[in-house]
Amino acid sequence: MTELEKHFAVIGNPIHHSLSPQIHSAFAKEVGLHIDYEAILSPLDEFKNTIHQLIAQKVSGANVTLPFKKEAYELASQHSNHARIAEAVNTLEFKNDEIIGHNTDGIGLVRDLEQNLNVDLKSKKILLIGAGGAAEGVIYSMLEKKPSELILTNRTIEKSNVIQNKMDVHAKSFDVNLNVIEIAKCPHQYFDVIINATSAGLNNTELGIDHKVFHEGSLAYEMVYGKETFFIEQAQSQGSKTSDGLGMLVEQAAEAFFIWHLIKPQTKSVIESLKGF
Ligand code: NDP
Repeated sequence: MTELEKHFAVIGNPIHHSLSPQIHSAFAKEVGLHIDYEAILSPLDEFKNTIHQLIAQKVSGANVTLPFKKEAYELASQHSNHARIAEAVNTLEFKNDEIIGHNTDGIGLVRDLEQNLNVDLKSKKILLIGAGGAAEGVIYSMLEKKPSELILTNRTIEKSNVIQNKMDVHAKSFDVNLNVIEIAKCPHQYFDVIINATSAGLNNTELGIDHKVFHEGSLAYEMVYGKETFFIEQAQSQGSKTSDGLGMLVEQAAEAFFIWHLIKPQTKSVIESLKGF
């Protein structure tokens, strides 16, 4: 670290797998900034202390990953609109004695779909599988794009119902039908975009979703990246287009970079350089 550099970090547990230091270093190099960005393993019960130590060390901002996004939300003294609605934070700014919490996951997903994969979400029918933090974090950004329908499903269906109840007011304001269906009933409908926001792909376990959900012409998007998951294999066997979540990862990082530096970095070359990692 030098006095002239600004300092940033990503905090998680585990953290060794994180690509964020590489991504932010690549952005900084491209736009000619000198930053220091390190991955920090926080003990599970020490997140708050870890953040306060970073602030004492004059760190300017931090990304937050599993399992601390909810704790980061609780710790922040101010929230962006997306963070407030998701009740989860993946980007922190430390400014004027305030801890400002943002959530860039939804913006990252939507930009990857629309700008990198050329899928316009307006008036489309979308299936979102999963009801954990990742699913909840992206729903508002998808509603903003005004699909015709956003259907939620999850292994534990009660969790989808809770999210639907919470997000219904926003769905109505964007004129989107937000509904929940049981996983077993998904094949009875056609979806333009099917998003896997579960962690099943991490262990390559089956989601319990029927292959008839996938069609030629639909896009199957797997948030897990760098793996040929069962979900991707199922979708490809039915002729669907597929993508993993690497683009989302890079786009959410680009939005965090913009929040900290007010400069929008190029993302396509970074996505290409990380393929195969
Ligand atoms: P959570 O632990 O909060 O939620 C896990 C979700 O996966 C729940 O809906 C859970 O269902 C479901 N699930 C887990 N295992 C299975 C299974 N075998 N079959 C069916 N459903 C299953 O995790 P997150 O929501 O935070 O993250 C989900 C995934 O998204 C992670 O793998 C993460 O790596 C990825 N992600 C990618 C990002 C990117 O930038 N590409 C950004 C954020 C997350 P149930 O409720 O029934 O337990």
